[in-house]
Amino acid sequence: MSSKKLLVLNAGSSSLKFKLFGVEPFGASMTGMFDRIGDASNCVLKASAPSAEGKPKKWEIKIPAKDHVGAMENILSFLKENVSGTFAKEVVAVGHRVVHGLDISQPAILCENTVNKIREAAVLAPLHNPPGLQGIDAAQKVFPDVPQVAVFDTAFHATMPAHSYMYGLPYDLYEKHKIRRYGFHGTSHKYLLEQAAGMLGKPVSETNVITCHLGSGSSIAAIRGGKCVDTTMGMTPLEGLMMGTRSGDMDPAVVLHMQKTLNLSIKDTDTMLNKKSGLLGVTGNNDLRSVIENAQKGDQRSALGLAMFVYRVQKYIGAYTASLGGNVDAIVFSAGVGENSSIIRGLILESLKGMGLVMDSAANDATVGGKQGDISASNSRVRLLVIPTDEELSIAQQTLEVVQGKAAKSA
Ligand code: ADP
Repeated sequence: MSSKKLLVLNAGSSSLKFKLFGVEPFGASMTGMFDRIGDASNCVLKASAPSAEGKPKKWEIKIPAKDHVGAMENILSFLKENVSGTFAKEVVAVGHRVVHGLDISQPAILCENTVNKIREAAVLAPLHNPPGLQGIDAAQKVFPDVPQVAVFDTAFHATMPAHSYMYGLPYDLYEKHKIRRYGFHGTSHKYLLEQAAGMLGKPVSETNVITCHLGSGSSIAAIRGGKCVDTTMGMTPLEGLMMGTRSGDMDPAVVLHMQKTLNLSIKDTDTMLNKKSGLLGVTGNNDLRSVIENAQKGDQRSALGLAMFVYRVQKYIGAYTASLGGNVDAIVFSAGVGENSSIIRGLILESLKGMGLVMDSAANDATVGGKQGDISASNSRVRLLVIPTDEELSIAQQTLEVVQGKAAKSA
């Protein structure tokens, strides 16, 4: 066992999440976040780590940090105190989650060129890439000698063919303004593909799956021969399924009509579509658990929101079965909803029996709370799998591959 460590960072506008991994043997050892950066009286560092006694060890420390650099410095001091006094020397790489990487298809070492690309992509991801850059800047200042790698949410979808990623708009908009579909949650879809291939006993390059990442943000990917051929999110994470607070697909003319008749500004429209729509807009609640409960109590709007959520997933499973020419090895369910809600999985699969998707109800009911499993009946033509996603683990693996590849090249 070596003392080498790898740090994965996920920066939000006022938070910095971290997960620490041991390298040899490879595995997660601590997870935490610095929250409310910039809010001096409420800044808090929370962390938890497994302990020998079985009950996880937890920390919650109030320390001010005026920006991401301050938060990163505090995280380092915390890790030095609670993990190892020589922590800074033991870190072999830092992996960063970056939401938008345009058409970059691989994780990339954070050199000037990569940082510039992330900056360029910020136009298309104004809420996500700027905090990502702050996280990168902070980590580069605090760990100046450690290689840093960006892992992009868009990268896995870079294999989509042009007929999937183009919008039916004037071609100029694509050429001059990079307006096209990119897709998100790519790190999760990639991880789910690899796990599914393992469960199916097939090489990744021969695996055809439809991966359903269903959480408060949701997306589905169609994967043929280990490569993404289509996904539901588009230029931004607003397209596709109906989500907790996002509308998903709709006629773009609705936007024009709303702006005209309600006199909505660009900012108001953005807030409406991203933060006030979806389950929240239809039912008044963005948490699917509450929506299900209220629907069961007879609330009509909750029943409608639930039915809309389920129907859109079914529609895309149907569409992506066609994208894969009918050759689907498995449908994978993951993320908060997909991993935990046997009710939603049951509702989705109930009316898809005619497509050869037959669920084993007992297995479905038993596979919740972070369990991995096969919930298909023996006569199901397509395997139905539940796989807990682990984006940080995937980022750590990809970061290590980049760093080790680099080490091999320069050796
Ligand atoms: P994100 O990472 O996008 O914030 P998650 O993947 O953690 O979201 O999913 C969170 C969502 O999962 C919650 O909003 C909740 O609606 C849903 N969820 C979690 N557990 C259940 C459950 N047992 N039944 C239905 N929905 C659930």
